[in-house]
Amino acid sequence: KPVVLSGCQPSGQLTLGNYMGALKQWVSMQDDHDCLYMLVDLHAITVRQDPKKLFDACLDGLALYLACGIDPQKSTLFVQSHVPEHAQLSWVLNCYTQMGELNRMTQFKDKSAKNENNINVGLYSYPVLQAADILAYQADKVPVGEDQKQHLELTRDIATRVNNLYGDVFKLPDPYIPEFGARIMSLQEPNKKMSKSDTNPNNFIGLLEEPKKIAKKIKRAVTDSDEQANIYFNPTEKAGVSNLLTLLSLATGKSIDSLVPEYEDKMYGHLKGDVADAVVALIEPIQQRYTDLRNNRDYLNQVMREGADKASRRAAVTLKNVYEAIGFIPKP
Ligand code: ATP
Ligand code: MG
Repeated sequence: KPVVLSGCQPSGQLTLGNYMGALKQWVSMQDDHDCLYMLVDLHAITVRQDPKKLFDACLDGLALYLACGIDPQKSTLFVQSHVPEHAQLSWVLNCYTQMGELNRMTQFKDKSAKNENNINVGLYSYPVLQAADILAYQADKVPVGEDQKQHLELTRDIATRVNNLYGDVFKLPDPYIPEFGARIMSLQEPNKKMSKSDTNPNNFIGLLEEPKKIAKKIKRAVTDSDEQANIYFNPTEKAGVSNLLTLLSLATGKSIDSLVPEYEDKMYGHLKGDVADAVVALIEPIQQRYTDLRNNRDYLNQVMREGADKASRRAAVTLKNVYEAIGFIPKP
């Protein structure tokens, strides 16, 4: 089976964007792929985190993965910091990555603009740690949202460089970006992506938010000042409306083409009401499963322990090969 690896940061509450762009794909890939899914806490500290919040966000995230349908019998589910090989391989790969390459990363530019008082070295080398995550398991496919495409290309470049120097050490991974839903936009600023770490909570929908609050946020979403209130799909001309149509389509399983005619003589308010209903119907059952899982700490511990052991055994094989290829002396 092809190896699949992906993760979300416990840098806040997982959002509808994370679900559409990543988690939804993860669940669907479990049967015919060998999947590894993680919570990337090492990545999360590239932005300052409150320790208590980080701790809780990691457990919340784990329970949410399970509630969304990730099955630990089928997939390896773990917390990144429980598998030391990620950080070890990341150091090695840092030495095979050029600063010029990292200077071009748009996520670094965006995040350093937002965190001017903490532009740390970890934030800069974030894509190298991500490359280590992926290459440690010789992953074939990496299901991610559109925003991670550039990092995946860098991962391939780093892997190719190492392979050219030392022979076939790494498999080259392919990004797996859904055709639709790979870039859910912010509700208030529909020209930027929805992000869980956004400072304005009205910009995102958290998977754990109260249904009433979710509906309210959708009803307040920014559309445009088109007096005719025409409803059609065009992300450049109609960013807000197109994002709402995307959410409706993904939440109901109906195509955009079949949805648009239904709104021919309707107002933006109608569309928003329907989006709110569809999103709440999608999220409510997940929340119900989540509550039971989140309260069962023994089970979560068991999942984390078993997942980390499985992952670590696999990553250790790659790390050993890499150390050998480089010329490190094995511990006698
Ligand atoms: P942060 O703001 O802390 O970076 P985030 O919302 O961007 O949080 P990540 O943990 O960085 O979430 O990303 C987890 C996964 O979700 C990645 O695969 C990413 O591509 C995907 N993703 C993030 N935002 C969106 C979005 N708006 N639409 C679709 N996919 C997304
Ligand atoms: Mg992100």
